[in-house]
Amino acid sequence: MPHLTIDAHAHLTDAPSAAELDAVLTRAASASVAAVVTAAARRGDWEPIKLLTEASAAGRTSGVRIVGALGVHPWYAATAAPVWEDELQEGLARLDTPLIGEIGLDFGPKGLAAAPKESQRELFAAQLRLADETRRPIVVHACRTGGELFAAIRPFRRIPAVLVHGSVESVPREALSARFFFSFSAAQTAPGQRRGREAVRRLAALVPEQIVPESDYPAGGREPSAVVETAAALEELGARPGAAGARFSEIFDLFPST
Ligand SMILES: [Zn+2]
Repeated sequence: MPHLTIDAHAHLTDAPSAAELDAVLTRAASASVAAVVTAAARRGDWEPIKLLTEASAAGRTSGVRIVGALGVHPWYAATAAPVWEDELQEGLARLDTPLIGEIGLDFGPKGLAAAPKESQRELFAAQLRLADETRRPIVVHACRTGGELFAAIRPFRRIPAVLVHGSVESVPREALSARFFFSFSAAQTAPGQRRGREAVRRLAALVPEQIVPESDYPAGGREPSAVVETAAALEELGARPGAAGARFSEIFDLFPST
């Protein structure tokens, strides 16, 4: 299997305009980025993500494969509409490679300002149950949760893959099973990001083929084409992002051979 450059975490539906999104995807294609995982933060992102994945399937995204994830981010835990769960199931049924995300826990100041711990926990648990029942991969956001995030995921054995985004927290050993992937952007890998680089180096020593680059577009003004540089930085830190990308692509069935 050839090595693949993927952008494991972006929010393409936050692009300021359709023209800008086209330009971003064209640059990603020129940089040989094969696929971009685009995650929802809230209900309003679901329909645009569906349209984007359809455009991708119809070959209208410059040859870059768009993989959609639908879910409710922990920051919106307190404001999720009561019917979100039925609507999420409906939305997922209409996507071709439906991941559940971005879901998770955020006990940092930003997360707790948006939603209390208890509502975050309830929302996360409900989405984990859904992912487990429907055997879907998940895209996970973690911030200052200690071991709680991994402990919450552990019982859900039927979730086939877990994509942990941007976390520089130490990862408990049981999270190092092959179903976990960890994605990092230049916010963690750029020169001078001492804490982030150290976290990647520690993780790369244990699971070099489970570390993939992300842009987290549009955060920090980074875009999917930038993952090429991030992949090089990850490699310097001991990871094998090309091989990880190939494994990722296989697990997520990004380029089915049929
Ligand atoms: Zn995100």
